[in-house]
Amino acid sequence: MNFETIEAVKELLSQPQKIVIVPHKNPDGDAIGSTLALWHFLENRGQESVIIVPNDFPKFLKWMPGCDSILNFERENTQAKAKIEEASIIFTLDFNHLGRVGQMQSYLEEASASFVMIDHHQAPSDYAKIMYSDVNMSSTCEMVYNFIESVAGVEHITSAMASCLYTGIMTDTGSFKFRSTTGRTHRVVADLIDKGAENTQIHHKVFDTNTPQRLRLLGCALKNMVIREEYRTAYITLSQDELDEHNFQKGDTEGFVNYGLTLEGIIFAVIFIENKEEGIIKISLRSIGDFSVNEFARSHFNGGGHNNAAGGRSELSLEETASHFESLLENYHEQLKP
Ligand code: 5GP
Ligand code: MN
Repeated sequence: MNFETIEAVKELLSQPQKIVIVPHKNPDGDAIGSTLALWHFLENRGQESVIIVPNDFPKFLKWMPGCDSILNFERENTQAKAKIEEASIIFTLDFNHLGRVGQMQSYLEEASASFVMIDHHQAPSDYAKIMYSDVNMSSTCEMVYNFIESVAGVEHITSAMASCLYTGIMTDTGSFKFRSTTGRTHRVVADLIDKGAENTQIHHKVFDTNTPQRLRLLGCALKNMVIREEYRTAYITLSQDELDEHNFQKGDTEGFVNYGLTLEGIIFAVIFIENKEEGIIKISLRSIGDFSVNEFARSHFNGGGHNNAAGGRSELSLEETASHFESLLENYHEQLKP
């Protein structure tokens, strides 16, 4: 964080404010971890604050300290709208484009509050008065650690906050293995453990709480996997029928896309998941090395993200989306060939 940003935040927080904190739609570990840690921090400073999620978040995150106080825009709609309207500051965390909050978008656009962005995705749009945006960061949680360090000092990080921040860094770095993981990330994580984050328990709560249906759905996804060695690519499709057969619950497909990258020689992995209710195919893309899935998602699937992890959507059918994807691979032959 640069000096001006830090001073601007200190100035804002020197007055009592009405604060709303918002993560992106379909919030993940980093989105929930970073918003909760910031919420604890602001509450401890006597600021009236509330987290509003655009929609529900997965069960494997529902143990996180403070998560019962989160408002769900879909479920607690009237209350959430009132909070947005009366807010003096709105923090947006783990996204940088108001289109990422679904139905909440128009309410945020009409809000009179000043916006503060904390985010590590590429190409931020310019809605925020104060922007802490850094694509080199492993996670928004690592940025919230820096934010607290600059604004107040790391001694203000409680064990509840440490657990929240640890969770987000762990999930967004693929358990500390992605390229974005630096020495600094490990130093932050070490400090979070010292401050009370129970690392073994957190791994267990997030990763070892599968249901039999979810494991069988993974089996189905792996069976459906198509491998295109000539493009070093593997992709998975999951239809709504297949999801229904396995009693799909939110978050069940989290991480499935990564299995493609565990194949030797594969550098590009994609999963296409049919969502009949929204009438779209939700797409997750991952890569190893220099092949930019951010560029790919942005150019072809109305999405974006990071170089090695991005998302997007398609309004074609599942079959049409997969065959369109296959036809695109040829255009990337130079970058993808073995
Ligand atoms: P996931 O595949 O886990 O949903 O998302 C991977 C990364 O891409 C995340 O950092 C996420 O924020 C971003 N992302 C996912 N979907 C979209 C999308 O539709 N648009 C944009 N711009 N980014 C996305
Ligand atoms: Mn993130």
